[in-house]
This record gives sequence, structure tokens and C-alpha cells, in this order.
Amino acid sequence: MNQLRILVVFVVSIICLPAQAAEIDLQKLVNEVHAQFANENSGKNPDYIPALAAVDSKLFAVSIVTADGKSYSAGDIKHELSIQSVSKAFNLSAVMQQHGETAIVEKIGVNATGLPFSSIMAIELNEERSVNPLVNAGAIAQVSLLEAKNANKKWQMIESNLELFAGRDLSVMKDIYKSETDTNTKNQAIARLLANYGRLYDDIEESVDLYTRMCSVGVNTHDLAVMGATYANSGKNPVTGKTVVEAKYVPKLLAVMATAGLYDDSGLWLYKVGLPAKSGVGGGIVAVVPGKYGIAAFSPPVDAAGNSVRAQLAIEEIAKRLNANVFQ
Ligand code: GLU
Repeated sequence: MNQLRILVVFVVSIICLPAQAAEIDLQKLVNEVHAQFANENSGKNPDYIPALAAVDSKLFAVSIVTADGKSYSAGDIKHELSIQSVSKAFNLSAVMQQHGETAIVEKIGVNATGLPFSSIMAIELNEERSVNPLVNAGAIAQVSLLEAKNANKKWQMIESNLELFAGRDLSVMKDIYKSETDTNTKNQAIARLLANYGRLYDDIEESVDLYTRMCSVGVNTHDLAVMGATYANSGKNPVTGKTVVEAKYVPKLLAVMATAGLYDDSGLWLYKVGLPAKSGVGGGIVAVVPGKYGIAAFSPPVDAAGNSVRAQLAIEEIAKRLNANVFQ
């Protein structure tokens, strides 16, 4: 009887070993990658939004959330960053749910701009004008496309959608919102230009304001990884178990991330890392490994294209060590 018990325990532990080892490895992986790039000092905080220039440049966090909801984090994981452009990749899901996938192509566009995220030239050069939902023009256009009774209701829609992805209540970082509102004349110009071309679908000032508020929502790096893991899990948040977006839309949403997620360096990113991802000038980046992981990293200094230097290096290294390139 005792021998049988020993045999059963032996067999069960052999079966469970790979899962336990995988858990331990992912924690070790985030710790190691965090240590590896903590002293990488290139890049600079963006200063066109004054409040972002004031954020501590040394902050650095890395987080992985699996498609079945397990979390692994290292570094300044409690720090709240402003979500900035990362929000665009998730708000698009609300717009797609409301209008369907064809409307995104017809009313915004899904091509890469190959130009900086706030480019006026991109609007002038492309007949679609807004070009892609993940650059500023396209993101203001996607906010304008959302239909709600009034601005307050539209805001609730935007915020609660981001909350469903993150799996918790979120709020606007007031200092960032004010700083960006005081200085966002270029985004106002972009919205006016879109309106001129008939490519803005609601009030100009209101659309810019809601867009700015959306970019000012505070998240930590773990939240970003949960958001990514929700896409990795075909639209169902693996932590809360709630479906946020229909699975049929997820490949379209990830395709848009692949074309323009890292601004004018999106091609280079895809070439090097092979994962759909979205970055924001707040220093956050989230990458999606379909069926497996949301991988997020945050650190304020960004490169010339606006992508966090440490976050790119950390996600690239994690993707390499997990063999996560979707093209292999
Ligand atoms: N709120 C920022 C802007 O409109 C977002 C830019 C970004 O993260 O790419 O410039």
C-alpha cells in the first residue's frame, strides 16, 4: 500500500513539474531581464508634455501575465504611469465592437504612416487622412467615432472599457491631464485638419479633450500586462474571467498593433521582436503573444521615435528567451 502511495506521489510530481518549473522560470526571467537593463541609460524623458519630463527617469518595471492569469513582475511595479498611446490599442476594441471591423478601414484606415505619431504631413500625404487608429490623428478619429448620448457618457464608455481590460478601477492622473491640456495645440490642429477633410466624426474640442483624458489614465506595469494578456486570451480578461471584446476582432486589433504600435519604428520592432505591441510616451509598452502572454515594461526615457528604451530592450529579451516571435 505504502509503495503504491509512493508511486502515485512520484507520478503526480513528475506530471506537475513542468508547470511549476514554468512558473519559477518566468519570475526568474523578469528578475534577470530587469537587472540586465536597469543600468541602460540612453534615451530621454519626453518634454513636449511638461509633466512627463518631471517623472523619475530611473523608474523601471517589467511584468508578464499569462493567458491563464498568472502574474510575474519585477522592479517599480507599483508606480503609476500615464497610459498615453497604449490606450489607443484598447480603445479601438470598443470602437470595433460598436461599428464593426470594416468601419475602421473605411473611416480611419489601417496602413502604417511611416511618419512620427503626431505628423501633420501624414494627414496631408495620405488620402485616408487619419491613416491608422494608433497615431494621434487616427486615435482622435476613433474617439470621435464612438457613439454616446453626450461627452460624459462617452467618457464613461472609454474609461470602463480600459478598466475591463485592466481588471480594476482606473483614474485620470490629474497633473498629466492638465499639463497635456495646457500644451496640446498640435493635437487641436490635427483634429481641425481631420474635420476639414470630413474625417472627424464628432465635435472637435470634445474629441481632443476625451482623447487627452484617455491618454492621462494611470496604470501600473502589471495592469498593462493584464491588458495584453486579455488580447493573448482572445479577448477574455484572464484575471477577471470577463469577456472584453469578441474573439473574432482580436486578430484585427493585433494586426493594427503590428503595423503602427511602435510609431515610425514599427517595422524595425516587428523585424527584431516579431510581436504586436503598443507603446506610449509615458514610457510603457505592452506586447502580445497570442494564446500565451501579455508582456509589459515601463521606463520613462524614450528614443527618437518616442519608444521607451529600457522597455523595448526588456520585451525584446523576454521574447527571445521565450521563443515568442509569432513568425517563427
Ligand atoms: N497624449 C500623447 C499625445 O497626444 C500621446 C502620444 C503617445 O503616447 O504616443 O501626444
